[in-house]
Amino acid sequence: MTQQLVFTAPRRALPPRHLADLDPAGRAAAVAELGLPAFRANQLAHHYYGRLIADPQQMTDLPAGVRAAVADALFPTLLTAASEIECDAGETRKTLWRAHDHTKFESVLMRYPRRNTVCISSQAGCGMACPFCATGQAGLTRNLSTAEILEQVRAAAVELRDRDHGRLSNIVFMGMGEPLANYARVVAAVRRITEPPPNGFGISARSVTVSTVGLAPAIRKLADEGLGVTLALSLHTPDDELRDTLVPVNNRWKVDEALDAARYYADVTGRRVSVEYALIRDVNDQPWRADLLGRKLHKTLGQLVHVNLIPLNPTPGSDWDASPKPVEREFVRRVRAQGVECTVRDTRGREIAAACGQLAADSE
Ligand code: SAH
Repeated sequence: MTQQLVFTAPRRALPPRHLADLDPAGRAAAVAELGLPAFRANQLAHHYYGRLIADPQQMTDLPAGVRAAVADALFPTLLTAASEIECDAGETRKTLWRAHDHTKFESVLMRYPRRNTVCISSQAGCGMACPFCATGQAGLTRNLSTAEILEQVRAAAVELRDRDHGRLSNIVFMGMGEPLANYARVVAAVRRITEPPPNGFGISARSVTVSTVGLAPAIRKLADEGLGVTLALSLHTPDDELRDTLVPVNNRWKVDEALDAARYYADVTGRRVSVEYALIRDVNDQPWRADLLGRKLHKTLGQLVHVNLIPLNPTPGSDWDASPKPVEREFVRRVRAQGVECTVRDTRGREIAAACGQLAADSE
């Protein structure tokens, strides 16, 4: 392990306050500060969450004379699209965002026949240093604010609406960053995502997935928030010896501690946990590891788990590659033989470096 794990972000300034940073009480206070009547708070929130409008000049039921002050105080421009790139016949679209301080990070919108999913970032960069992940190589720049997280969601919903592609149905915190290392802002964002307008975008909690390297205490805390989102645990191997290098945070919270926390999450929320496993040729794809994975998961989680195998997306400068298909098939068979559900994830966005673990805005 060469790189230090970073649990607290470097002291870089967060962006100016935005309506989307605020809960209902915070919105009420902000509107009062502006000398506006209380009902304006819900009106602004309804524009933002219900109609996806973030420019007060377009809020025609707001007196023209106060729009500039409202824009200044509550709707600073947080994100500018620095570049956009598509693949999979336009069904996958990656956006590189530039923040107020020129920090860059990415989100990916994926259209499927029955759902539209946006993969969002919770941090610019990442401090978890997983050696197979492009984001992990560059280190952590800073946490994103709640509003910066939500602006990625709003942009995706606007994009779908404007192109007649239907509604945004799913959100995965699988872009850049470790969501549970930016805990309070991520939880606030999840509340705004799942509550119905005017308090949020009204996306079903079960369609929101928070993916983590396995910060065990934070997983337990998340379970107790009562959010009902899906938890994904990036396990990648069932044994501590290898996981200490593949997911360096394992040096702090071991496989069994992460799995026990996942079990607690499943018990408290009643939601099945998803276990992520990037299959890497000759590294973690051996038959014995499949057997051990199946046994451990069956023992700790029983029917409350689903394994998602992700064929490794090679990152620049790494010798690692995805496992051959026959090895992958045998791995799936062995996990299932232990009574654990297991499927292989489709890999969208590979040609535009938008697939799992390929997001690396800083190196562009
Ligand atoms: N920090 C969170 C979210 C990050 S990305 C987490 O680790 O869960 C979402 C998933 O992509 C994680 O399971 C991560 O391990 C996986 N991933 C990272 N790099 C990858 C790569 N090169 N190929 C396939 N999956 C990768």
